[in-house]
Amino acid sequence: MQKTICNMCGHEFDFWDEEEGFAYNGLLGYGSKYDGSALQLNLCCECMDKIIESCKISPLDEQINVHNPMIDVHTSPALTRIVFTI
Ligand SMILES: [Zn+2]
Repeated sequence: MQKTICNMCGHEFDFWDEEEGFAYNGLLGYGSKYDGSALQLNLCCECMDKIIESCKISPLDEQINVHNPMIDVHTSPALTRIVFTI
């Protein structure tokens, strides 16, 4: 089995990193100095936290948290949207 390495810190993914699987793949286009390059970015949980915390505007949806007992994770349309867009 091939091990996944975090592009940001260079550490091998642990169990939780593999579970979350923060991976972004796609082609970079106009506006990027890497225009035309293929992006294959894997991030461990710790580096994802660092990116979130470095944002001037939080990318977190404050209304959604699966640990919120008021949200039914099986029926919430907002959570469904997130699952399919990541
Ligand atoms: Zn990392």
